[in-house]
Amino acid sequence: MIFDTIPVGQIDTNCYLIGDENEGVCAVVDPGGSPERVLEMIEKSGLEPKIILLTHGHWDHVGAIPALLEKWPDLPVYAHEKELCPADEPNPHYFFPHAGKNQRTYGEGDTLALGGLTLQVLHTPGHSGGSVVLLVEDVMLSGDTLFAGTCGRYDLSGGDGEQMLQSLKRLGSLTGDYKVCPGHGALTTLERERQTNPYMQQAMRL
Ligand SMILES: [Zn+2]
Repeated sequence: MIFDTIPVGQIDTNCYLIGDENEGVCAVVDPGGSPERVLEMIEKSGLEPKIILLTHGHWDHVGAIPALLEKWPDLPVYAHEKELCPADEPNPHYFFPHAGKNQRTYGEGDTLALGGLTLQVLHTPGHSGGSVVLLVEDVMLSGDTLFAGTCGRYDLSGGDGEQMLQSLKRLGSLTGDYKVCPGHGALTTLERERQTNPYMQQAMRL
């Protein structure tokens, strides 16, 4: 599996590239801004992008989508349905218009094939109503749910502190260890977060 990441946009959102080198394909996760740098990361990989995956729909995770769709007009863009901001309920934290004909939804229990890789979707509300965590092999794309040493804020519209704790508990209860790749900040591991993250520890006591 190919793995790469760059910080993008105004508040350094981590954009990830997950690829299957055998089949020459990749997914772009949370292309939040800096489109020229996202395109450069894809080019450098030598892989063909097949899907855009969003951990959630906040503006800082989606800003480079138009540039990607300009270059690859058929790329599906996956997000949880709760992240699709309806036209009659504008929300300043969300992107609108959404990805139009390219928009797809995914949710709890779904799996997506990327070449020979399988990505698993966990619905983890708390930071936003439709936040998801994606698992692929030993990598956990944790979005703004789990960060190194902390968790995402839950005071924005659609956020919920109780749900955040339940989601953190669920992640902490997964079997084994994962390389945790958050939406912002440093990479970490699930085991390190179980041992040191006060929010995860509070959640695990519930
Ligand atoms: Zn967010």
